[in-house]
Amino acid sequence: MRAGAGNFGREEMLEGISFAHKNHVKVYVAINIYAHNEDLETLPEYLDFLAQIGVDAVIASDPGIIDTVKRVQPCLPIHLSTQANSTNWASAAFWRRIGLERVVLARELSLKEIEVIASRVNIELEAFVHGAMCMSYSGRCLLSNHLTGRDANRGDCAQSCRWRYFLVEEKRPGQYFPVEEDARGTYFMSSKDLCLIEYIPTWPKPVYPALK
Ligand code: SF4
Repeated sequence: MRAGAGNFGREEMLEGISFAHKNHVKVYVAINIYAHNEDLETLPEYLDFLAQIGVDAVIASDPGIIDTVKRVQPCLPIHLSTQANSTNWASAAFWRRIGLERVVLARELSLKEIEVIASRVNIELEAFVHGAMCMSYSGRCLLSNHLTGRDANRGDCAQSCRWRYFLVEEKRPGQYFPVEEDARGTYFMSSKDLCLIEYIPTWPKPVYPALK
């Protein structure tokens, strides 16, 4: 999906970052694909460009990419992407030791689990609060790749888990069993969207719901 989006060109990135910084807003650039060898060829030059235009951090998941950032642009802060499936405090401690500034946690964690990680490891934590959840673990999924050739792990998911699927008994081809989850149909492979709006603190007086 990200690969298919009308992404920013380099001039636009430069303009966007200077606009954001003028308005005291930080800009993080996601380079969180699981890279194949050929993806690495242009990475150092791209990292030089990102450092030059002043991005505030990159978000990465592939250890090869993380290592390349540290080697090529050691001053560029790195946030661990949610796609790296960090689900426990020992994992967060590992990424801290490697020198990452922040861990964007796996979306599969409960609030209690996040609280334990926060209490045990001194690293910035970020958690998703809204949006589509991948059916497979943290988006490490081959469904889109298998059905369309579009690789979800390189930013090109076709959201195949959200297509409509039917149940068919092998001896009755063409007969679709009417299994329904709601009036619109059945989505065997699609998970419920994440919606934690109630957990976002209100202003000026933060109110946090009790941990369940
Ligand atoms: S097909 Fe669905 S589960 Fe797989 S990566 Fe895409 S959104 Fe996630």
